[in-house]
Amino acid sequence: MIPVRSYEGKDVAVFGLGRSGIAAARALLAGKARVFAWDDNEAARKAATEAGVPLADLNHRDWQTFAALVVSPGIPVSHPEPHRIIKMAKMVNVPVLGDIELFAREVAALKPADRPTIIGVTGTNGKSTTTALIGHILKTAGMDVRVGGNIGIGVLDLERLHGAAVYVLELSSYQLELARSLRCNVAVMLNISADHLERHGGMKGYVAAKSRIFLNQNAEDTAVIGVDDPRSQTVCTLISADGLQRVVPISSEYGLGRGVSVLGGWLSESGQGFVDEPHDISGAATLPGRHNHQNAAAAFAACRAIGLEAGEIIEGVKSFNGLPHRLQTVGEVSGVRFVNDSKATNAQAAEQALLAYPGSYWIAGGRPKEEGIDALVDLLPSVRKAYLIGEATDAFATTIGDRVQHAKCRTLEIAVQAAFEDARASGIEAPVILFSPACASFDQFKDYEDRGRAFQALTADLARRQRIRETA
Ligand code: ADP
Repeated sequence: MIPVRSYEGKDVAVFGLGRSGIAAARALLAGKARVFAWDDNEAARKAATEAGVPLADLNHRDWQTFAALVVSPGIPVSHPEPHRIIKMAKMVNVPVLGDIELFAREVAALKPADRPTIIGVTGTNGKSTTTALIGHILKTAGMDVRVGGNIGIGVLDLERLHGAAVYVLELSSYQLELARSLRCNVAVMLNISADHLERHGGMKGYVAAKSRIFLNQNAEDTAVIGVDDPRSQTVCTLISADGLQRVVPISSEYGLGRGVSVLGGWLSESGQGFVDEPHDISGAATLPGRHNHQNAAAAFAACRAIGLEAGEIIEGVKSFNGLPHRLQTVGEVSGVRFVNDSKATNAQAAEQALLAYPGSYWIAGGRPKEEGIDALVDLLPSVRKAYLIGEATDAFATTIGDRVQHAKCRTLEIAVQAAFEDARASGIEAPVILFSPACASFDQFKDYEDRGRAFQALTADLARRQRIRETA
């Protein structure tokens, strides 16, 4: 745990007692602050009590005494409208911040030599993969690395700060919105597409929140920026024009004159007056597809920025185990391969999956995002058949129209069964069933992990039944 000492002896309100909220409360307590924690959800309050966090109903308190309100990233700060608790804080001028800000202040309070290296990763898609990949590469290279933030462990639950440690932090736009003092020695922005727009008051607010990752950087720091979509390209131009830090553009679509590119499985790095020998990363089995090559390019650039040799980075890229629920092969039944991409909660992520597996039997749907699957229309002819589930069933069927054969299955179970029967009967070589929903999961599942596990269980069940049939 990283004790938060900046509020010693002061009263701090903590609202939202999920993983990061509880971690923040405990870190504040360890730094001798007086903590008043609350969550509207009873189960969350119980979990907090069990973790030793003192509760106080913030809805019925005098707010004048609070030095700060710490909120979890799930609480809307400004859009679609500020949460009730944010309004209460603002009324009495209590500063609102998040756990990343608490972390950043602890780092800033240290002597420069004691400050750890911080690598922050943001973007609409690929954050977790890139964060985990950077963590893996650094670990393989023998560094003292801690991985957390929006992935796995909340930042304040990571091990204590010291000068030789490297913190690799996945940062969502919500977290960045609540952080002002964070200085990333390396800040990575992968891509920007429409997602969570409602929480940021439109695209402008979203880009602004994401761009905060570059705040406080100086000439010693590096910004690694994807240039494969127009919005992050614009960010790259703006940040380069400001000239405050070193900028390394990355791409899996263009061969860049300056930066890191991965084209056709070959990673190359070029800069002022040099082009390195390209490295073959096509054998990195857990990083299939152009989007993963974008992640690999970003990870390479980030690790180079803190001084690793190209060779040791490539070793790490090749030995990466991958993350579950992201284009993860979860089984093969009668020659049919099952790929779990449950983490694809928007069209942009699903687009990458369809590009990585053309000609697949595609299971999609759930709770649709505002922009639906309009962005996938051009790719639809590459799908063999679509199997639609959840609340999105009818809307997706309308978008698909007669572009590609589809079935309204409504549940994942029916979809898996139908796709399997079609794939097996197709006679094509090595057919793929691709579960890449392009939707949130909350209509039928607890979260995307629960949904991915359900797909995995259905695959295992098919395999078992198939085995019984074959041995009968
Ligand atoms: P995040 O943490 O940003 O949600 P993940 O690494 O968990 O990103 O991947 C989420 C989904 O996005 C997965 O379905 C994955 O296949 C897809 N994806 C991963 N990297 C990228 C990328 N660079 N561009 C677009 N989609 C991606």
